Amino acid sequence: MNYPGVIKLGQKPLVDEIKCIGDGLCVNVCPARPNVFLMEDVSRVVHPEACVDGCTECVDNCPTGAIRIIRF
Ligand code: SF4
Repeated sequence: MNYPGVIKLGQKPLVDEIKCIGDGLCVNVCPARPNVFLMEDVSRVVHPEACVDGCTECVDNCPTGAIRIIRF
């Protein structure tokens, strides 16, 4: 249930666009619907609200360490 003025705790990924090589692995492993990422020249976080609490798949699979999770 949502309460006005109460902020839901959660998490979201941040992509380092310098480190991202655009391989799309984060898009492929992300279980969220809608997918948190959209692949352009680099990976963009387009649906941070969909990020699944406790998931670290994108971080675990990124070969360049370009993604980190922010918890709030
Ligand atoms: S942590 Fe999981 S749900 Fe969140 S963006 Fe990464 S792969 Fe998707």
